[in-house]
Amino acid sequence: MDLTKLSAAKLWLISSPPPDASRRPDASGPRDLPYLATALYALIPIPSDAVPTMSIDERWRLYLNPGWYATVDISDVARELAHLVWHLLADHADRARSLNVDSHSAEHWHHAADATIAATLKPDRLTPTEMKDARALHLPPDRSAEEYYAILSKLPPNDGSSVGTLDPDDGCGSGADGIPRSHELPPEAEAGLDLTEAREIRRRVAIDYREHSAQRGDAPGEAWRWAGRILEPTIAWEPLLSQAVRRAVDWAAGRGDYTYSKPSRRASSVKGIVLPGMHRPVPRVAMVVDTSASVDDHLLARALGEVDGALKALGVAGGDVTVYSCDSAVHTVQRVRRARDTTLAGGGGTDLRVGMAAAQAQRPRPDVIVVFTDGETPWTPHAPPGCSVIVALVGRDRTSLPPTPPWAIRVECLLE
Ligand SMILES: [Zn+2]
Repeated sequence: MDLTKLSAAKLWLISSPPPDASRRPDASGPRDLPYLATALYALIPIPSDAVPTMSIDERWRLYLNPGWYATVDISDVARELAHLVWHLLADHADRARSLNVDSHSAEHWHHAADATIAATLKPDRLTPTEMKDARALHLPPDRSAEEYYAILSKLPPNDGSSVGTLDPDDGCGSGADGIPRSHELPPEAEAGLDLTEAREIRRRVAIDYREHSAQRGDAPGEAWRWAGRILEPTIAWEPLLSQAVRRAVDWAAGRGDYTYSKPSRRASSVKGIVLPGMHRPVPRVAMVVDTSASVDDHLLARALGEVDGALKALGVAGGDVTVYSCDSAVHTVQRVRRARDTTLAGGGGTDLRVGMAAAQAQRPRPDVIVVFTDGETPWTPHAPPGCSVIVALVGRDRTSLPPTPPWAIRVECLLE
């Protein structure tokens, strides 16, 4: 296979425009993205008739359909390359795995991940024409792939026991979702990068990106946030928080409180006896939000958004969620459709015991309470009865986070 066009496409992406050109590349000129070089040249091209265009696997192998490749322009190859290499740089495969994305939910993850890549490629006019951005998918801008996935999937969570398999033309390859395809080389095949090499490339690209964009004076966008995550890594707390919520809600639903509201179908055949129906109520969720001045508003909004997304994906509707915003006294007790609609009233010192008491006084009682706080609050010595409590601890760095009670599930939500 003649790889000249592939080389030309890489050069088109990384070369700078002629000195007299304006600062931003025009539609046809080179894209001026030298920081992508390390990643682009690490790809291992493999001709494959199985894929319709191009796809990638987790070991940075690039499967290329020779027929498609022969007919398209250099810039089309380049746009696809930029798209696929961002899946690898963003480590979408591993992130999909931590959300238990499987062959049934892969399409939602594909759209979610592609929407974030579309935002990355847009300023450089590199978005492939058929790629859907957040707006086309009716999603809010500037969110993580995990958040988009929670909104799009609306599926019951998978337990992660089996990921299944996908066809070669499903999505962008295992490099984008961690699900193997039949055309891909086995993981142990010699040609391919290992985890350490991939991590090293991400670091290199992130450093090069920061330098280049500082020179060019780019406004921080999706790629800037990505570089921040690579260079100042913290454990991604978003999936941990939604997992905690999912587990607590599943657990509450699984307790299977029988209710007599829906008589069982057998009831009619047993005269005079009302048998309990198998109808299980949707678990009730309460949120207690610490609105004291010491809590970072932006981070708090992100944590609330994450929990909202998780609840939505679980089918817990707004009517089953009550939100209490709270500092030293409960300022507002409101039932809202989404936690994001909470008015962050308050300020001053914090005593979340007041908010917790208000939540527990609710009838019917909540099954799950999610508390959002910086942790600077007294707690009651014992767990609220019959209820799981998740504390989303919002703060700037790990060392400054105070302890939480042993009866609560603690998720540290740190600023990147
Ligand atoms: Zn993609």
